[in-house]
This record gives sequence, structure tokens and C-alpha cells, in this order.
Amino acid sequence: MTSPRDASRPTSWWWTQPTPTFQPLDSGLDTDVLIVGGGITGITLAYTLAEKGASVGLLESGYLAGEASGRNAGFLLAAPAEPYRERVEFWGREGARAVLQIGRRSHQRLRELVQRHGIDCDYEQKGSLRLSRSSVETEDIRASLPELRHDGFPMREVPVAEVVPAVAQPLFDAAFEVPEDGQVHPVKLQHGIAVAAIEKGARIHAHSRVTHARWQAGLWEVHANGQTARARTLVIATNAHTPQLIPALAPFIAPRRGQMLATEPLTERITSQPAYAQYGYQYWCQTPSGRLIIGGWRDVDFDAEVGFDTQPTERIQSAIEGGLAQLVPAGAAIEHRWAGTMGFARDGRPLVGWLDAAHHLAICGGFTGHGMGMAAACTLDLAELLEFKRAPGIASFDPHRFPDLRQRHEGIIVLGAGA
Ligand SMILES: Cc1cc2nc3c(=O)[nH]c(=O)nc-3n(C[C@H](O)[C@H](O)[C@H](O)COP(=O)(O)OP(=O)(O)OC[C@H]3O[C@@H](n4cnc5c(N)ncnc54)[C@H](O)[C@@H]3O)c2cc1C
Repeated sequence: MTSPRDASRPTSWWWTQPTPTFQPLDSGLDTDVLIVGGGITGITLAYTLAEKGASVGLLESGYLAGEASGRNAGFLLAAPAEPYRERVEFWGREGARAVLQIGRRSHQRLRELVQRHGIDCDYEQKGSLRLSRSSVETEDIRASLPELRHDGFPMREVPVAEVVPAVAQPLFDAAFEVPEDGQVHPVKLQHGIAVAAIEKGARIHAHSRVTHARWQAGLWEVHANGQTARARTLVIATNAHTPQLIPALAPFIAPRRGQMLATEPLTERITSQPAYAQYGYQYWCQTPSGRLIIGGWRDVDFDAEVGFDTQPTERIQSAIEGGLAQLVPAGAAIEHRWAGTMGFARDGRPLVGWLDAAHHLAICGGFTGHGMGMAAACTLDLAELLEFKRAPGIASFDPHRFPDLRQRHEGIIVLGAGA
């Protein structure tokens, strides 16, 4: 176990308890599949492949679940925070439905893993809330309800007074509930799955940054910590960081910052469900110990909330504090502040599938702020695709939906330095 007192650990509240230690790569590694990136994507893929009996390795540059996957709100949502109608306009009905189905299946997959391995991660399926701040937002959400229902996802309007404490009720115009959604302690969840994957034979290494890789004589040779890992198939699960290894993907996955804070434990229950407001730009939940975990407000400073810097900023943190003061007017001490980097995809949908099938290079990333709720089913399906089987659940996430990616006839055979 590593101790919360280690200064290099991520600063999110989820990292304040002891965590298991995952060793760095300190010798050569030979596996069928090698995954780069140890967040929810890499970890659930490693588990799934190991479960199928494949030989699988994973290299993570920092702590396992130390980046976005360990700095988020822990919401497991099937329906995205944005109005469904908007999603249908962007992606078409089939495309929007595919995202919903991935969300539902991801949640089911995580629940199954939590139960199968008895992972102690505060998992609860208690539904989620969308709270509208204006009549316009209310109408946007209301207008989506029939289409959502038709696609099999019941979201229902509930009285604000039933779900919001009296003091905060005037802030919201309407409330909507999705009963099937859930919440989890993301770091405990992922470390539990990683430990189970290792028990099934996966070779998982933290503190092992991949500097470069090259396709050579039918194998990927991947370099980290001065060691070489070899694999027949390479999967990039580095989300926002992907363009650092594959610069050609910079136009498709962009780094965006998300910020949060956590209060001291509160005696009052502010919310019993994960809550989203202002079209998904504001979100909060309360842990079993009573802490309010609240964040978002990116829309206050869109232009600044880009790039890889994970220092919380005064502007966004004070906007979040403003939201906190509305929910807890009596005040609450703030004990933790943090930021994380999300990978925003060009059309808002992740890139999942073969990037270059001829050179056995696949990708799973670009979750656009929803990876906790989407990755686990994407990796289930990707594991099928890696065996050259059909994977209809992720068909609409095929990276080659972008014509400019299809046009790369020469293939991708070098990653990182020299790419
Ligand atoms: C503040 C905030 C709140 C959020 N809230 C939610 C939420 O409630 N629900 C939800 O569904 N989503 C939420 N998200 C988004 C969610 O956290 C991400 O979509 C998800 O964690 C992405 O997982 P990932 O494994 O693909 O990427 P990451 O967690 O970013 O993992 C990628 C990993 O790759 C590693 N890496 C990068 N380069 C290399 C290299 N060269 N070699 C080795 N390793 C490398 C990184 O160190 C990193 O650990 C939130 C995000 C933030 C920042």
C-alpha cells in the first residue's frame, strides 16, 4: 500500500486514503496485447483481456487512476448531461442511442465487477438528477423526454422540493431523475479492478511512461523506463494525452481542464443523488461521509480551461465556491481542490477501434468528460474487435468516421519521440 502522505500523489479527495502499490516496469515485457494508459479505459481493458485468457500488459506513466480517472466526480450516467435532443441533432438517432446504450452497459459491467470481486468502493445505484437553472433549460430537457423514453431510457420530471433542500429550491426551475444511474469512489473502484486483473494474469505497471514505440518485424517495440516491451497489438488508452504519442490525432482529441473541490463532512444532506445543473456544466454529489464534492463551471472561463496544466485556478474555484454557497448558505470548510485533464473528441464521441489494423494499433479515448460512465462497455467491445470479431456497440465510435484519418494510407508505425 502507498500512503496518502506521499507528496507526489494526486490531490483529489479520492486519493486521500491508502492505495495499493503497482510496480514500475523494471525488465523486458512480452505480451500479446500492450495497453498504454492506466485510467478506467486501460484498467477495464486489461481486466477484460485477462479474463479472456489473453496475455496482456499495461504501462501507466504515473499513478494508476492518477489522472482524469482519479480526479472526476464518480458519476455513472447512462444519459448524458446535455439534452438528448441536442445529441440526436449532432449524431442522428442511431448515434445518440448508441451512446445511451454504451452508458447503460458500462454501468452494468462495472456493477458486475464490483459484485464479482467484492470491491469496496461506495458503489450505489441511486439514480441521478438534472436540475435546470432556467425555463429555457427546463424546456430543452422536457422536449427530450419522449425521445429518451422511446429509446428505452426513462427520465422523469420530479418536484424540485422532493430532491433539493428547501434553502436551494428557488435556484432551480425544474428537476429530472434518471433512476438507473449510479455513483462510485472512482479510485477504489479502479484499483479493485486492477488487482483483480493482475490476479487473472495481467502485467500492470505504474510509473512507466512510454516515450516511444515502433512497429518492427510484425511486433510493437515499446520503450519505458529504459526497458523494452514487445507486443503483437498495441492499444492507446491515453485519452487527452493521445496526441503526445500520436501527433496526427491532435485535431481529433483536445485537452480540456475540469476542476472540483471537496468540503468537510456536512451534517446536512444536500443531495442523495449525483446532480447535474446548467446543461451539465455544474455537478455535485455527497459522499457517504457527508462531504460535498462539487465542480465544473468550465463555462465561466472556456478559453482558459484548455491544455494539460492541472493546477486549480482562482477564477473557476471561486465560481465553484459560489455554487457551493448557494447550496450550503451556512458555509462549509473546503478541504481539497483539484483539477484533471479530459480528452474532448472533435464530434463529442469517443474514438474506439482500430487506428491502423494493418499494424495492430487500436485506440480507446476521447470520452469528452464522460469516460467513467462509458469506458467499461467500450473496452468490452474493443476486446472483441481485437480478436477481429464484430463489435456493433462501438461501430459509431470507429476512428475512421473522420475522413482525414481514413486518408492516412501510409499507416502509423512510430509513436512518441520521432513520430
Ligand atoms: C473534474 C472532472 C470530473 C469528471 N467527472 C466525471 C463523471 O462524473 N463521470 C464521468 O463519466 N466522467 C467524468 N469525467 C471524465 C472522466 O474522468 C474521463 O473521461 C475518464 O477518466 C477517462 O478515462 P481514461 O482512462 O480514458 O483516461 P485517463 O484517466 O486520463 O487515463 C489516461 C492515462 O494515460 C496515461 N498516459 C498518458 N501518456 C502516457 C504515456 N506516454 N505512457 C504511459 N501512460 C500514459 C496518463 O498518465 C493517464 O493515467 C470527469 C473528468 C474531470 C477532470
